[in-house]
Amino acid sequence: MIDTDSARGCLLAGAAGDALGAPVEFRSWQHIERDFGPRGITDYTARGGYGLGAITDDTQMTLFTLEGLLRARERGTDPVEEVRLAYLDWYATQGGGVARRSGELVHDERLHARRAPGLTCLSALGKIAAGQQEVNDSKGCGGVMRVAPVALVAEPEASDREVFTLAGNLARLTHQHPSGYLSAGAFAVMVRALVASASVEEAVEAGLAALREVASEGDRGETERAVRAAVSLARTGVPEPEVIEQRLGGGWTGESALAIAVCAALCAPDLREGVRVAVNHSGDSDSTGSLTGNLLGARYGAEAIPPEWLGPLECRDLIEKLAERI
Ligand SMILES: [Mg+2]
Repeated sequence: MIDTDSARGCLLAGAAGDALGAPVEFRSWQHIERDFGPRGITDYTARGGYGLGAITDDTQMTLFTLEGLLRARERGTDPVEEVRLAYLDWYATQGGGVARRSGELVHDERLHARRAPGLTCLSALGKIAAGQQEVNDSKGCGGVMRVAPVALVAEPEASDREVFTLAGNLARLTHQHPSGYLSAGAFAVMVRALVASASVEEAVEAGLAALREVASEGDRGETERAVRAAVSLARTGVPEPEVIEQRLGGGWTGESALAIAVCAALCAPDLREGVRVAVNHSGDSDSTGSLTGNLLGARYGAEAIPPEWLGPLECRDLIEKLAERI
């Protein structure tokens, strides 16, 4: 059983980072800077996006991951199979044809909002729903952005290798390039270290150690290099958005999103600044905001989240209720 405040912090801050980044997800830094000033977007805005504090597919899928994992724990069933069914529930919320519903979340109308859902997730789940084998080579960040709950539900005696492998297998349901699922494994191990009170530095090293232990050199190279680049960039202080883009990419792929989150979590003095750094660049701002929120919320707990981010946060009650069940 893990500390409830870390679990709440991880989930709520992930959702807040998602909501902060959502209005600027598809906008260049030049446009963000023009509209919001030299520090970029720092608070929720009704301008663009889906409304003040609105979450996107990153948080939706994270909640479905959690629901599947909790169901597996309560029934003693296979977590990958339960999460696969939970993802089919999510697919149904997005208009996909699915024969039956498995959980409770699918009946919450708020989660039926379409918030630029990842195309790889939709097409992979469409095949799975039709009973076909999904085969792809996608390394989009749709795998890593949803697996934080693996760290929250893991038994205390589970090894990092087991946490890594489960998170990787959940990502692999839809993203089968190694950088698409190994980034997910490394991320879950980092979150797990943080809920167990590790520093961000220690957590990143734990993620890298598990990556080296589980994956072959050929498979892990891209993810390992991306995380190492993030660590060295964070040593130079808070990087400018253009430097993040040049050195770590736009966060559209698994290893790049993980790298931006690691850099933002390492270089910032607190959760608010970390999430601000994570969302202000030309890339996939809601996903990088969500990952950074997961990391820093696990580290510092829900009280580190600015109250003005928590107040209007969409589905906050749902997140709190699920966190209680952990
Ligand atoms: Mg999104």
